[in-house]
Amino acid sequence: MLEIKEWQEYITSWAEAKGFVWIPENIDTILLRLHSEVSEASECVRDNQFESLGEEFADLFIRLANACEVMGIDLEKEVAIKMIKNEGRAHLHGRSRK
Ligand SMILES: [Mg+2]
Repeated sequence: MLEIKEWQEYITSWAEAKGFVWIPENIDTILLRLHSEVSEASECVRDNQFESLGEEFADLFIRLANACEVMGIDLEKEVAIKMIKNEGRAHLHGRSRK
């Protein structure tokens, strides 16, 4: 099993071999493609096709890993840092309280 950074490198090498050579200046397009995978996952739910949800989440991870590699971001490190921050948050943080 690969580490997240290894996935970033492997997915980016695969994408480049398939002709998808992204550079940081392409971040707007990269983000749109990430969003398209969220939309495809939403369509699975809308159409009651939950058997395809895992594949769409995989697409989302693949595009995210590629985006991180292109942008020079170590996703595993960022997740670790963010989860430390999240652990310190209040119960149901971010929800409006009435
Ligand atoms: Mg997809």
